[in-house]
Amino acid sequence: MAFKLYNSLSREVEAFEPAQGDCVRIYSCGPTVYNFVHIGNLRTFAFQDILRRHMRQCGWKLRHVMNITDVEDKIIAAASAAGVPIGEYTKQYVDAFFEDCQLLRLERPEIVPAATDHIPEMIELVRRITQAGHAYESGGSTYFRISSLDDYGKLSRLDPSGILSGARVDSDEYGKDDARDFVLWKASRDGEPSWDSPFGPGRPGWHLECSAMAMAYLGETFDVHTGGVDLQFPHHENEIAQSESATGRPFARFWVHAEHLLVDGKKMAKSLGNFYTLRDLIERGFSADSIRYLLVATPHRKQLNFTFDGLHGAAAAIERLRNFERRLASASAGADNPQASAESAKATAQFRESLDEDLNTAGALGAVFEYIRTANSAIDSGRFGPANVIEARDLLDHFDKIFDVLRPPAGQRVPAEEIEGLIRERAEARKARDFARADGIRDELAARGVTLQDSPAGTKWHYAD
Ligand code: AMP
Ligand code: ZN
Repeated sequence: MAFKLYNSLSREVEAFEPAQGDCVRIYSCGPTVYNFVHIGNLRTFAFQDILRRHMRQCGWKLRHVMNITDVEDKIIAAASAAGVPIGEYTKQYVDAFFEDCQLLRLERPEIVPAATDHIPEMIELVRRITQAGHAYESGGSTYFRISSLDDYGKLSRLDPSGILSGARVDSDEYGKDDARDFVLWKASRDGEPSWDSPFGPGRPGWHLECSAMAMAYLGETFDVHTGGVDLQFPHHENEIAQSESATGRPFARFWVHAEHLLVDGKKMAKSLGNFYTLRDLIERGFSADSIRYLLVATPHRKQLNFTFDGLHGAAAAIERLRNFERRLASASAGADNPQASAESAKATAQFRESLDEDLNTAGALGAVFEYIRTANSAIDSGRFGPANVIEARDLLDHFDKIFDVLRPPAGQRVPAEEIEGLIRERAEARKARDFARADGIRDELAARGVTLQDSPAGTKWHYAD
C-alpha cells in the first residue's frame, strides 16, 4: 500500500512518491527566533517529525531543510528594545529551540540554515523576479506585483479582490502600488540591520527568505513544503508567487499544513497570551514524553484542543504501553498461540496502513492499544508463548520508531558493560533459583530499552530501537 498525503494545493489526498530517486526533499518553515516557542509551534514541528519517521519507514532517504528566521521585523524590534545586536538576541532562542526539540525527540532536519547566512541567494532571487517583470521599486524598497501573475492565490484559493482583508499592511510599506503587493527587499531605516544590494541597502522580506533557502538546498522544484495552517496565506502563497515567477517552474509538489493547537477553542498564540512553553509544562511536572504523545496522537489535519486532562491522558497511555512491555518479560508461558500471532499481524498491518493514510496517528495508536488489550487477556489466561512475546516486542519496536515515547532516548542508552554485568547477575540469580530477582533484572533492562534473548548458547541482548 502506498503512502498518501493530503495536498493543500490540490485539496486532495494523493499518492506520494519522491520525484527523484528514493530521496524526499522537504522544506519546513522554521521558527522565528524572537522568543521561546510555545507548544502550539511545537505541534507543527512534532507533526514534521512523524512525517520524517514514517517516510523513512517507507524506505526513502530524507533531505529536509528547516530554516531559522533570524532577521524579521519582530526580531529587530525586540533586539532593539533589549539594546543588543540581532545575532546576540536570537542566539539564546535558537539554542532554546533546539533544546526543546531534543526534549521532544524531534529529529534534527538534515539542513538547518539561518536566513542571515543566505542574503546573497535572497538578493539573487529578487534580481531574477525583477528581471522577469514581477517586481517594482518604490521608496528604496522592492515589491512583488501581484497583478503580474494570473494564478496568484492558487494555494489558498482566495478571491483576489478579497485578499486585501487578510493581508498584513505594514505601516512602513506606504509606497506600494497595490495594498496586496508584498515586500521582497525592505529599505533600511536608521539603526536597523541592513545589507548592501543592487536595489539599495536593506533586508529581505520574510517570504523571500524561505523561497531562497528552499531553492538553495532543494532545487527549483522539490517534493514537500510544510508549515502550520496560518502560514498558508499569505506566507506560502507569496513563496509560490516569488519562486515560480523567477523560475517558471512549479515550486513545491505537495503542500502539507498542520492544524492548530487550540486553548479553549482559540489558536494558541503569543499575541493572545494563552500559551505554554515546553519549559512551563515540564516545571509543572509533566514529562516531555507525555507532551510529545499529546501533540502527535491527534492527526495533523485535526485541530487539537490543549487541556491538562489531555496531558494526564497521554501520560496514562504511555504508562499502559510501558506496563505491557514490562509484562512481556515474564509473559511467556506454555505453547505459542496462533490467535495471538494473528492479532499481532493484524495490528502491525493496521498500524502501517493508518500512517500510510495521510499519517492517521490516531488510527495507528488505536491498532496498538486494541492489540495490547487482546494480548493482555491471552497472557492472563496463560496462552502466550515465546514467539508471541517476540511478535509483541516487534510491534512495540515498530511503534516506537514513529512515536518514540517508550524507551530512553538514544543518547541515554544503558552502557554495554552495565548490561553485561546485569546479564551475569541474572544468570547467577537463576542458578540460585531466585527467579524474582532474575525477572526483575530483565524487566529493568526492558524498561530501559534493552531486549534480552535467551538461547541454549547464552543470553544475547540488543537495544530495542
Ligand atoms: P513562527 O515562529 O510564528 O513562524 O511559527 C512557527 C510554526 O508554528 C509555524 O509553522 C506556525 O504555523 C506554527 N504555529 C503557530 N501557532 C501554532 C498553533 N497554535 N498550533 C500549531 N502550529 C502553530
Ligand atoms: Zn516559510
